[in-house]
Amino acid sequence: MSVDCLFCKFVAREIEPQVVAESETAFAFRDINPQAPTHVLVIPKRHVANAAELAQHPADAAGVLALAAQVAQAEGLNTGYRLVTNTGADAGQTVFHCHVHLLGGRGLGWPPG
Ligand code: 5GP
Ligand code: ZN
Repeated sequence: MSVDCLFCKFVAREIEPQVVAESETAFAFRDINPQAPTHVLVIPKRHVANAAELAQHPADAAGVLALAAQVAQAEGLNTGYRLVTNTGADAGQTVFHCHVHLLGGRGLGWPPG
């Protein structure tokens, strides 16, 4: 756990987000500023800054993808959804605890802006 990390505080339940699901290695909660009818953030419980660091922990990476798939199914996103991981400032990463955006419930344009 990183002391000053907001998402670590969510995992520890020091601050309560709107929890959607959790597993041994991953945690899912609703984004505070949703960009689609379903906008859930799926994070590793382990504090890593980004996807490159997450790749060094394959069990945690697999846990994040598995929980994302489970949430997508539970949210009824049968016709498609998107997983996005912004990495670094140019990509718009603002929280430096790795997170996967799960977006769905509307048509999603491609390529993104
Ligand atoms: P990023 O820009 O790093 O890819 O995504 C960070 C996401 O975290 C944003 O979509 C933002 O709305 C979300 N976020 C920031 N602060 C909070 C918060 O306090 N609670 C929740 N649930 N989401 C947050
Ligand atoms: Zn953290």
